[in-house]
Amino acid sequence: MSEKLVIRNIGLLLSGDLAKPILDADTIVVVDGRIAEVGKAAKVDSGGAARTVDAKGTTVAPGLIDSHVHPVFGDWTPRQSQLNWIDSFLNGGVTTMISAGEVHLPGRPKDIIGLKALAITAQRAFSNLRPAGVKVHAGAPVIEKGMVEEDFKQLAESGVKLLGEVGLGGVKQGQEAKQMVAWARKYGIQSTIHTGGPSIPGSGLIDADVVLEADADVIGHINGGHTALPLSQIRCLCESCTRAVEIVHNGNELAGLYAMRTAMELGQPERIILGTDSPAGSGVQPLGILRMISLLSSIGEVPAETVFCFATGNTARMRELDCGLVEPGRAADFVIMDRAQHTAGKDLLDSVRLGDLPGVSMVIIDGVVRCGRSRNTPPAETLAEVA
Ligand SMILES: [Zn+2]
Repeated sequence: MSEKLVIRNIGLLLSGDLAKPILDADTIVVVDGRIAEVGKAAKVDSGGAARTVDAKGTTVAPGLIDSHVHPVFGDWTPRQSQLNWIDSFLNGGVTTMISAGEVHLPGRPKDIIGLKALAITAQRAFSNLRPAGVKVHAGAPVIEKGMVEEDFKQLAESGVKLLGEVGLGGVKQGQEAKQMVAWARKYGIQSTIHTGGPSIPGSGLIDADVVLEADADVIGHINGGHTALPLSQIRCLCESCTRAVEIVHNGNELAGLYAMRTAMELGQPERIILGTDSPAGSGVQPLGILRMISLLSSIGEVPAETVFCFATGNTARMRELDCGLVEPGRAADFVIMDRAQHTAGKDLLDSVRLGDLPGVSMVIIDGVVRCGRSRNTPPAETLAEVA
């Protein structure tokens, strides 16, 4: 079935691409959940659409990607005993989440066969069912001592594509972590390492030396979760490797700003990706990614359109996802926003630069409208609507 969706009257189109964060286009044509065309209304083929969304001159951006979450099963988190937390994130513009380990499962198995079984089950469960339509990439085993190369091969063959945060399990030494991260990489499994002090009782310190030696693909919460490393070690991490610099909401904000500035100074903004690291001790943050964007743009003094790329195209490229950028062939995942009512900002980008949050008026995943006006953001001045 060839379903066609057209989004028209786009006032500002953010691409997710640092090379050109704002596109000179006002219309997106989607066919079968993929972006088919992006351009000016007169130039694209918008005939025969099953559905048309009128953006009413507001802003369209790629759906936001949360690079660091800890889901368990379905739309439930035991961490703060909450239901429908993923649906709440959808209302914050998030269309994709990456699991850094299903670590909050009550009674989580730590033996090798058990941790593999859990990872495979989580991977299957979240690919079979998307809570609120959000794409949750889960099934991220927390590595433990005694794992051998064959375990990683088996996990990869079973569909596991991610490692949970290295350091949350028994493997905390650089040498040991390095071997397992390398086995994971050999079989196409991406890795993230916990960075900084213990997050909750039971987790441990991972300092810059261990992070560098382990050489995981993502320097997970470089700004700590919540206790950050000394800024000198954060600088060292940015300077001494080329791995992703992940900044999270549930981290130290000063350290987050410092990590961003350091990566920018090095001329490597493409390394910066954003996450919430929630659910966590400090809760669930449905607007966490929007709040990070606003924080980094306002206090960090980086143009808002650039910071949006950190939460979309950068993460998609780093994580090898088919979403996150407004270009033909990509998944049609979008968030439609406008400046919030009564913000001092003259338009959406200006309001974010001033530290305000945008108002979300619609979220689309794979070309399907998943929510209208957000129940969580401040109200948008102008709302997109299905024509
Ligand atoms: Zn962590």
